[in-house]
Amino acid sequence: MLKLIIFGPPSAGKGTQAQRLSKKYGIPQVSTGDLLREAVAKQTPLGVKIKSYLDTGKLGPDDLIVQLIKDRVSQPDASNGYLLDGFPRTIGQSTELDKMTEIDLVLNINVDLELLVERAVGRRICTKCASVYHVKFNRSKAEGVCDKCGTALIQRDDDKEATVRNRLNVYKDQTAPLIDHFKKKGNLVDIDGSKGIEDVFLQMTAAIDRLSK
Ligand code: ADP
Ligand code: ZN
Repeated sequence: MLKLIIFGPPSAGKGTQAQRLSKKYGIPQVSTGDLLREAVAKQTPLGVKIKSYLDTGKLGPDDLIVQLIKDRVSQPDASNGYLLDGFPRTIGQSTELDKMTEIDLVLNINVDLELLVERAVGRRICTKCASVYHVKFNRSKAEGVCDKCGTALIQRDDDKEATVRNRLNVYKDQTAPLIDHFKKKGNLVDIDGSKGIEDVFLQMTAAIDRLSK
């Protein structure tokens, strides 16, 4: 059983690393953002409720998000563990998570503010397989097309600069305080996210592999 949280400000590289970690350790990436965007695209009742929050960079209501996560981690593919990406994001969500389970490790990605904006604005995603690219730092082989499935890449609606800055403020106010909570529990490890994708991945796998020793 391996339960991980990948933590950090918007566009720090959580999704990018989560996809790689998920493959290496054979546990699903449970991304609140992907689950919510999927719900919006499919116009499920939850998706309809949540769309306006996503578009403006606000957080969805805790009870909706917690239910979404509970449903997801009770699926059979999560029986050996999972990697939470984008959850918990508030003290309320983290309290609910503590009631639910024990997390083995929180990978806390640190990246400077201006670098975050640059990463967000250049991000491109595949709506079909959720692969993440960057126009400068992680280009797809053919421009604008997903390497894995050939689907056209898009820019997320919330990756416009103004919304990005908004999301960064929300992170500072509501999410960053969780770092203290994790530190008190003693399961947080700091990751230098300003490095390249491979380097960051190595820092993370080293921390995870130390767990089993
Ligand atoms: P998050 O899930 O934390 O919001 P993403 O994984 O989507 O962040 O990454 C944000 C953007 O930055 C993407 O365009 C991604 O390709 C790029 N990126 C991710 N990690 C790095 C890195 N270590 N160096 C440079 N660019 C990166
Ligand atoms: Zn794809």
